[in-house]
Amino acid sequence: MTAPFPNPPRESVVDRFLRYVKIDTQSQEEQSTTPSTAKQWDLARMLEKELARLGAQRVRTSEHCMVYATIPSNLGDAALAARVPTIGFLAHVDTSPAVTGTNVKPIVHANYRGGDIILPGDPTQVITVAQHPALTDLIGDDIITTDGTTLLGSDDKAGVATIMTMVDLLGANPDLPHGNIAIGFTCDEEIGLGIEKFDVAEFGARYAYTVDGGELGEISDETWSARTATVTFHGKSTHPGTAKGVMVNAIHAMAHFIMRLPHDMLPETTEGRVGFVHPYAGSADIEKSTIKVLLRDFDLSGLDAKEKMLRDLAADSERANPGARAEIEVKENYRNMKDVLADHPQLVENAMEAARRAGLEPFMYPIRGGTDGSKLTFRGLPCPNIFTGGHEFHSKLEFNSRRGLEKTTETLVHLARIFVEHAERALRQTQ
Ligand SMILES: [Zn+2]
Repeated sequence: MTAPFPNPPRESVVDRFLRYVKIDTQSQEEQSTTPSTAKQWDLARMLEKELARLGAQRVRTSEHCMVYATIPSNLGDAALAARVPTIGFLAHVDTSPAVTGTNVKPIVHANYRGGDIILPGDPTQVITVAQHPALTDLIGDDIITTDGTTLLGSDDKAGVATIMTMVDLLGANPDLPHGNIAIGFTCDEEIGLGIEKFDVAEFGARYAYTVDGGELGEISDETWSARTATVTFHGKSTHPGTAKGVMVNAIHAMAHFIMRLPHDMLPETTEGRVGFVHPYAGSADIEKSTIKVLLRDFDLSGLDAKEKMLRDLAADSERANPGARAEIEVKENYRNMKDVLADHPQLVENAMEAARRAGLEPFMYPIRGGTDGSKLTFRGLPCPNIFTGGHEFHSKLEFNSRRGLEKTTETLVHLARIFVEHAERALRQTQ
């Protein structure tokens, strides 16, 4: 393969990635601070130093472990520069609380020849071709896995490493035209809370991309919309020996409710663009029984319908259990960013074009989850998501590859340039 840009980066994206994944940055639920874990500072501080060394400007880290930096425009033509919006690139430093990120030992399986990959640190952990058909596309590539005892943390150190290498490449290739670029590294994405502390004005971008997706070519401008319902049944406790005609057991009302959630509307039975209702935690007592239910749907009307269904079912359970009283409280978690991104189709079009220039076949993929971008989009920073080449996030079988990291990096560099080309075209039309 010939190099896509005249000068190589100072450090290859693979070497950078292998360095970052060894730094434990696992976030943790139920903490009162941001960042939720102090160890996320280790990578944030390192990135701050490296950004400065790579020539980034205004490099700073907030008290909440958010790293911000700017790559100034290199456009000589002031009229053109004024027309190119500041584009942001974002990735998160933390890894999932689901699987340990302590002592990650990445393994490079050079020139993969096909077949299952047994992870040597725990031979029961096997990446099989049967379960991971994407492996067949990686023959001849260098696959990067763990030793099977930890997650890899490609989610989202692949995003961090590719953005850093983009900065490196832009510095090494001053002839590649780009406008102002804002760089942001966030903490606590995996627990959904860090982004609340992200300062959109401070970041300074007009549009941004999270680099936090999966398979090469996968671009997302929609997540589903998410609500959480807390359904509480109130009963009446009494000594069970003298309970006849007096006791109202809220546990029965709750059980009645749960049993009537439609089986074909659960996470276990749905995929693709189909939403779900998901009872996931609760407590059972005679006086008061509570069940928390996640509601997910790509359409707000579908989400409203699911909420109405829960309210109706709770009312039915109330009726079926005389004396019991149902209460339901619904909170919004995040909304489908497509509602806003539909007004900015050029963001996805430019990302698709950038991926094509990197030799990929881009495709749209609706995310069954949220991203930092879904919150930012509704805070005035439209923010689709771009692939990283990673697979099997949040697991010991997580993997990425040399080509995954290199093609993602190339895509980011092309993307910066495409915004300049569009501004050039617009400028020509006005002249
Ligand atoms: Zn992620």
